[in-house]
Amino acid sequence: MNTYKITLLRGDGIGPEIVAEAIKVLDKTGERFGFALEYTEALMGGCAIDATGVPLPQETIDKCLASDAVLLGAVGGWKWDNLPGNRRPEAGLLGIRGALELYANLRPAKIYGPLKGACPLRPDIIGDSMDIMVVRELTGGIYFGKRGRETVDGVEAAYDTEYYTTTEVERIARVAFESARKRGGKLCNVDKANVLESSRLWRETVLRVATEYPDVQLSHLYIDNAAMQLVRNPKQFDVILASNIFGDILSDEASQVAGSIGMLASASLGNGTRGLYEPIHGSAPDIAGKGIANPLATILSISMMLRYSFDEFAAADAIEAAVEKVLEDGLRTPDIYTQGGKKVGTVEMGDAVVAAL
Ligand code: NAD
Repeated sequence: MNTYKITLLRGDGIGPEIVAEAIKVLDKTGERFGFALEYTEALMGGCAIDATGVPLPQETIDKCLASDAVLLGAVGGWKWDNLPGNRRPEAGLLGIRGALELYANLRPAKIYGPLKGACPLRPDIIGDSMDIMVVRELTGGIYFGKRGRETVDGVEAAYDTEYYTTTEVERIARVAFESARKRGGKLCNVDKANVLESSRLWRETVLRVATEYPDVQLSHLYIDNAAMQLVRNPKQFDVILASNIFGDILSDEASQVAGSIGMLASASLGNGTRGLYEPIHGSAPDIAGKGIANPLATILSISMMLRYSFDEFAAADAIEAAVEKVLEDGLRTPDIYTQGGKKVGTVEMGDAVVAAL
């Protein structure tokens, strides 16, 4: 029997509440599909600041490096909002991505049939479904490039640099092509190659990698057009590939198109099979401790973990089917509630997914 070692970063706010439900689902899946799970607890975010003075203690990095996958709830909260940037809970997020060399961020934006009403676009634009995977480069580009401030002729100025190497583009392009191959076979590369030199290198490199994937249908859009197409005709997309900054913006836009923030999962991957899995939402301090947070994004992150880190495809499919089932049965946490639904809390929703499994 395979045993998977998972480090749990429950984090702050609703983090501990939603991670508890995801663990119930994971344990049930292991029981049903014949694998064992070993959990290690570690601190990151505000809870780590309170206990150790820093958002990402070395002990947490060591535990994550020694595990097969990491499950993160969310970090942050009002209590720590006035700390300087590098000592805030969110600094732990950048730190752990860097320490685990997680350069690829995968964010599915899917509309579940029973939740179509949550989509802000007209029904004729959405059609039967929408299912997009945004693949975002996570450790390069303008967020990590040379930056600074200077005074030129008495006028203050600041700059950030978009900088990519072909190695960085090749590895993220491969993740996107592989993802397209496992899904609908279509990849849309997003850049700004009509203006930016870094985008021209990005596009040349994507075209070179494309020769290894003749079975994937590749297209290109400039970022401004891609942002427009995502709300004009989202059904045209299967997998979208983008740099760190363009992917940041597009994945948030795609998540809004998909409806509720409480439903969307994500995976951050590097070269090996170890990944970090988390819901895309934050720690929701406004509803923390009330027992009403939607645990489905975290439960769907578990499904991504099983698919991308452990190759447990049947188990991953079963979780997604169980989530569909509870939605079809009308169960709704307040964030996705519409009239006629059955309003439930965090624990009831988790229990229902376990029962559906
Ligand atoms: P948020 O995502 O925490 O909350 C935005 C809104 O969505 C709130 O009204 C919240 O109640 C609601 N919401 C979020 N998740 C929900 C869920 N599972 N079920 C029901 N409702 C949900 O964003 P924010 O308010 O901008 O940020 C709060 C804190 O989280 C901040 O400290 C921020 O820095 C941090 N944050 C952390 C992460 C992360 O850990 N990866 C990501 C984003 C924000």
